[in-house]
Amino acid sequence: MMAVTHVALGAVAGIGWAALAEGALLPAVVASIAGSLLPDIDHPKSWLGRRLPFVSWPLAAVVGHRGITHSLLATVACLALLWEAGHTAVAAPAALGYLSHLAADWCTHGGVPLLWPSLKHYHAPVTVRTGSIADLSLAAVLWLGAGWYLAVPH
Ligand SMILES: [Zn+2]
Repeated sequence: MMAVTHVALGAVAGIGWAALAEGALLPAVVASIAGSLLPDIDHPKSWLGRRLPFVSWPLAAVVGHRGITHSLLATVACLALLWEAGHTAVAAPAALGYLSHLAADWCTHGGVPLLWPSLKHYHAPVTVRTGSIADLSLAAVLWLGAGWYLAVPH
């Protein structure tokens, strides 16, 4: 999926988390969006990889794209690292955003190695091509939904 789709999913995940946990909206959304972009740090041409090339290039060379960073283990590690660092208020929404990235990539033909170190890639029965009209449409629907939710008083 494209970064815009990952960010949209992250925003929706953060909004959902803040609503369910009755927490502060902005920190949850920011953490969830950050989490939604983090798995693609293993790709030097990703949005995050272009901003952190000193991390993404070595990571891509060692583990490749859609390796460990696209696994449930990495999601749990993200949650644990933030929690242990004392960022308990944003750990769960960040992990939820991270998980949203895996879910989105699961919907692509390449799938994700959810159970890494097993290299088997899992993908949805029906997949979407990154950058396709379906990918863009999903992003648009998510952004519209998030905007609607934020515009309606609760
Ligand atoms: Zn990805």
